[in-house]
Amino acid sequence: MANRVTGCWYNTLGIGNILMTFGHVSERLKDSDRFLVKGRPSVNDLLIKTKVHDIVTVNLEAVKIDGSPDVSIPGETKLHSFIYKNRDDVNAICHAHPHFSVLTSILDLELKPICNEGIDLFPVPVFRNNALISTDELGTALADKLGKANACLLRGHGAVTLADSCEVAVIRMMQLEEQARLNLYAFMAKGPEYEGIPVDQANEYMQAATTSLRRSGLSEERIRNQISGLNLWTYLAEQVAQDV
Ligand SMILES: [Zn+2]
Repeated sequence: MANRVTGCWYNTLGIGNILMTFGHVSERLKDSDRFLVKGRPSVNDLLIKTKVHDIVTVNLEAVKIDGSPDVSIPGETKLHSFIYKNRDDVNAICHAHPHFSVLTSILDLELKPICNEGIDLFPVPVFRNNALISTDELGTALADKLGKANACLLRGHGAVTLADSCEVAVIRMMQLEEQARLNLYAFMAKGPEYEGIPVDQANEYMQAATTSLRRSGLSEERIRNQISGLNLWTYLAEQVAQDV
């Protein structure tokens, strides 16, 4: 489902068929050292066409534990396993190759918050290597670069977003890409000195948004959904259902 939303979103932005094939979303199995991830089926290995059949179970050593024999693990399984090993607070990871994130990373733009959606992802570190995360060394280096951040650009390659659920990880990827798109427009309009939302205002925004939602009488669960963007999920799922 998360993969389908990511793929649909690519279509919506007109990013094209080639990038639709790349990327994977994973989710840690509760209280275990295993996670589910989109594998590579022998036919139709397309992000947008992911089916339940294509999901495999992998352990933290990046070894396939369960899944159809004709579905292999992603070449970048260690991107997921090393982040899970390093971050107990992370239960889901989205990796994709969205254009504006790739473009801003290659231009060496340090992303600044331009709009409120995804403002909690900043500062966004940049992993300065376009290699596929397929070895222990690269997995360790990426996990180190992420530190406690929930988003990271992979220069010339793509991006990674982390969350407590795969739904929020996917929404964060969409928010990150939108921030990257707006950063590029700001750069084109004003050059490298363009200003984003100041850090103190960004921090105040998150606190004020929560307070305001509480005043409006929403439950804590609905406030969490609103702040994380999870309230968009049903709408996105409906769009995907129409598109497939
Ligand atoms: Zn990749």
